[in-house]
Amino acid sequence: MKKSIAVAVLLSTLAAVAAVAATPAAQDHKPVVFLPKNNMRIPVGDVRAKGIDEAAFNSVMDRIQEVYGPIIAQHGGHLVINRLWTDETVNASAEQQGGDWIINMYGGLARHPAVTKDGMMLVACHELGHHLGGFPLIGGGGWASNEGAADYFANLKCLRKTLGDTASANIDPTAKSACEAVYPAGVDRAQCESGAMAGMSVSVLLAELGGSPKPDFTTPDTSTVDSTNDEHPAAQCRLDTYFAASLCAKPVGDDVSRSAPNGGCTKAEGFKVGMRPRCWYAPAAGAESVDPTLASKVNGEAASKAVSNSLESLRSALSSNEL
Ligand SMILES: [Zn+2]
Repeated sequence: MKKSIAVAVLLSTLAAVAAVAATPAAQDHKPVVFLPKNNMRIPVGDVRAKGIDEAAFNSVMDRIQEVYGPIIAQHGGHLVINRLWTDETVNASAEQQGGDWIINMYGGLARHPAVTKDGMMLVACHELGHHLGGFPLIGGGGWASNEGAADYFANLKCLRKTLGDTASANIDPTAKSACEAVYPAGVDRAQCESGAMAGMSVSVLLAELGGSPKPDFTTPDTSTVDSTNDEHPAAQCRLDTYFAASLCAKPVGDDVSRSAPNGGCTKAEGFKVGMRPRCWYAPAAGAESVDPTLASKVNGEAASKAVSNSLESLRSALSSNEL
């Protein structure tokens, strides 16, 4: 009797495990890409190859492996970075096969003249963002975070863990003013500035490939979606997402969730800047109501600084001639 119950329990457990395993397996081989399909190819040695060199490409991938290998292991996965330096494709992609959480990084993208070393880091962070970026997921429940979520995660969490503590040179004055308004000093401000400029690097690439005007920090996409767009937003909208994530003063240790907008900035928590842009993101009705446990976190020093920076004061900072 005892034995038959044990067998029955084992069988039902196996059935449940099989059912759980079957759901993601159906989507295992469907990669998500950084850019919409494009025909640009930049082989090694090409006259247009003015982006980063192979050593810089490898140092970015080394850093991603060092920081995110252990994090993905904590999630039960195994990070695989395919360093496809000699491949002329101007793109990047992410996929999951069994326990392997894969990012495919092509040299063609690294060689594009718009791509800086920090920009390359952002692209790798975007691909990690499909694995780790949380809400919103493609189709509301696929294995991968959608394009906007992957972009937001890249600057919100990943770049802050992978970039150095000093700001890059040549910061756009608008980005500099905005970062200064949210983070008066220190590493947070430097990373905000570097993150914003990494966003500019890849947004210029996106605009060129998409045939759209060069994006700018002063010309945000003012369109609003009625329902969340899972696809690649336009170049300006993507720049807005990178910039917003850099301006979100949520602590880097506040993890994102796969079912709610936790970990990022929301209006419900009193943030005035740093939210997911409405050009791709439509908050679900009631989904961003104030959660008392989240509200208490707003009392954190960095977060309260952001709350105190009203949109009006940010606007005046942006329009001032101090810089
Ligand atoms: Zn993507």
